[in-house]
Amino acid sequence: MSEQLTRNEIPESKKWDLSPLYKTTENWETDFNQIDKGIDEALKYRGRVRESAEILAQAFKAIDKMERHLEKVYTFAHLESDQDTSNSETRSRLDKVTAKIAETSGKMAWFEPEVLSLSEETFNTYLTSPALEFYTRTLTELARRRPHTLSEKEERILGMSSEVMNSASKTFSILNNADITFPKVKDEAGKEIQLTHGNYVNFLENKDRSVRKAAFDAMYSTFGSLRNTLACTLSSNVKKDVLKSQLRNFDSALESALHPDNIGSDVYNNLISTVHDNLPALHKYYDIRRKILNLDKLDMCDVYNPLVPDSKVEVTWEQACEWVQEACKPLGEEYCTVLKRAFDERWIDALENKGKRSGAYSSGCYDSAPYIMMNFSGTLSDVFTLAHELGHSMHSYFSKKEQDYHYSSYKIFVAEVASTTNELLLHNYLMEISTDENFKLYLINHLIDSFKGTVFRQTMFAEFEKEIHEMVEQSKPFTADSISAYYYELNKKYHGEAVDPDSKIEMEWARIPHFYYNFYVYKYATGFSAAVALSKNILSGDAAKLEDYLNFLKAGCSKDVLDILKDAGVDLSTPEPINSALSEFSEIVDELEQVLLYRKR
Ligand SMILES: [Zn+2]
Repeated sequence: MSEQLTRNEIPESKKWDLSPLYKTTENWETDFNQIDKGIDEALKYRGRVRESAEILAQAFKAIDKMERHLEKVYTFAHLESDQDTSNSETRSRLDKVTAKIAETSGKMAWFEPEVLSLSEETFNTYLTSPALEFYTRTLTELARRRPHTLSEKEERILGMSSEVMNSASKTFSILNNADITFPKVKDEAGKEIQLTHGNYVNFLENKDRSVRKAAFDAMYSTFGSLRNTLACTLSSNVKKDVLKSQLRNFDSALESALHPDNIGSDVYNNLISTVHDNLPALHKYYDIRRKILNLDKLDMCDVYNPLVPDSKVEVTWEQACEWVQEACKPLGEEYCTVLKRAFDERWIDALENKGKRSGAYSSGCYDSAPYIMMNFSGTLSDVFTLAHELGHSMHSYFSKKEQDYHYSSYKIFVAEVASTTNELLLHNYLMEISTDENFKLYLINHLIDSFKGTVFRQTMFAEFEKEIHEMVEQSKPFTADSISAYYYELNKKYHGEAVDPDSKIEMEWARIPHFYYNFYVYKYATGFSAAVALSKNILSGDAAKLEDYLNFLKAGCSKDVLDILKDAGVDLSTPEPINSALSEFSEIVDELEQVLLYRKR
C-alpha cells in the first residue's frame, strides 16, 4: 500500500471549502465569544413563561437564536477537527465548543419543565394565542407529553436516578468494548489472527468455510461463557425501560418508546407481521445461496460470505460524481441544480488523508452548506456511499431552505429515507447502463444484502426486543436460557429450511448493542421500505409523485413523521409499503437466480 497523503498534499478541488462558514479562525473565535450573550438573552425568560403568550414566544425565539448560533460555531469546529484528528489546535477548538454545549444544555434545562408546569388552562389559552401561532406544533408536541410528565419532585428523583438506571447498559458497553477478549483464529494460510469485533465480519466473508466456522465458534463460545452475566445486564436494562414506561403512565415500554415520534404500536406490529408474510422470499434466497455454495444445509457461518466475487471496477472520483448525478436525473431539475452545487461549491471532502476521521457522514447546520466527509478509495461501494451521503445532504438542504430554523431538522425516523432512495436510484442507473454480467451480478447482490441486513435482520431484532420487553411486563422468567431459546427459534424462522443453524447462534443477542437502545432498530426497516416505495414513485416518471417526494425533503420536522411520509405517498400504518418493498426483494431474488442459472448453462 502506498503512503497515505498528508492533508496538504490533497488537491484543493477534492477538499471541502469551509470558508463560507468562517473565513479565518479569528472570525470563529470572535463568534464563539458571542455565545454567552445569547445564553444570557435566553436566560432572561426563566421563571417568566407563565406571564403571557408573548413572553413565551419571545423565549422560543431567544432560545432558537442562541442554539442556531451554537450549532454554527460547533459545525465549523467539528468539521475542521475531523480533517486531521491529530491536529491539537483544531481539537482544542472542538473541545471548547463541546464544553460550551454541555454548559448551555445545563443552563437551559429549566425551559421545557417550566412550560409543562403551566396550568392546563394557561396552556390551552397559549395554544390558541396568535402570538404563539407559529409554535402551535411544538406546543402540541409538548401537550402530548403532559400526561406522561410527573410532578416536579418526581421528575427530580427520576433525573437523579438516571445514571444508576443506565448502569446495566454501561456495564454491557464496557464489557463488550474493553474487557472482553476473543481467542486467536487461524486464517486460510494457517496464520493466527486475534479475533476482534472489527475483523469478525471479514472472517465471516472468508472463502474458506473452516475459517468462517472457526471465527463463528470463537465469537459465540466467548459470549457463551458470559451468558448469565450478559442476560443479567440485558434484563436489567429492559426492566429499566419497563419501569420508566410504567412510571410515566404508558401501557407498555413499546408504547413509551414510540411516543416521541407519535407512532402507535400498530406500525411496529404491522412491520413484523408483514415481514413474516414475506419470509418465503428470504428463504428462497438462502436456498439459492445453499445451491451456489454447493452445501446440503447452510450453517450460520455461511450466510455472509460473498456470493459474487468482488467487482473489480476501479472508479475515479470524476466518474463517481458523474454517475451519481446521472442517477439522480429522475429527481428533476430543481434537485439536480442543487446537487451540482455540492461539487461546484466544494461541499465534499472526498479523499483519505493522514489523520482524517474514518467512515463517511453528512453534516452541517442551518447556516452552512450540508457538508459531506468521506474516504473515497475508488470502489463501487464508495460510489454508493457518495450517493447515500448526498441523499442526506439534499434532504438537509431542502428542509433548511423551506423551513424556519425551528422546524428545520428532520427526525431520525425519516433520516435514512432520502439517503437510501439515492442508493436505489444509483442501483437502477448502473443496472441500466451496464453491459457487464459480473458487474450486474455484483449490483444485484449488493441490493439483496441491503434488504437482508436492513429489512429482514432489523425486523428480527425488533421482534426480539418486543418479546424480551413483554417477558418482563408479563413477569415471565427472563434468563439466559429463556432468551437464548427464543433467539434460536427466531433465527430458524427467519432463515428457513435451507439453513440448519448451529446452536451457538442462540448467543448472538449478547453482542448486539442495539438491544440497549430501546426499540430503535425497527426504524431501519421502515425507512428502507419507505425508500423503496419512493424510488419506485420517482422512477415512474409521474410529475405529481416527484413533487410529493420533493415536498417530503422540504418538510423538516414541521409535521409528524408518519404524516410527512403519508403526504409523500407512503402510509406506514398499512402493510402496503412493506409488502411492496418486499415484493421488489422477491423480484431481485428471482433475477439473481436467473443470472446464476444462465451462467451455469
Ligand atoms: Zn445514512
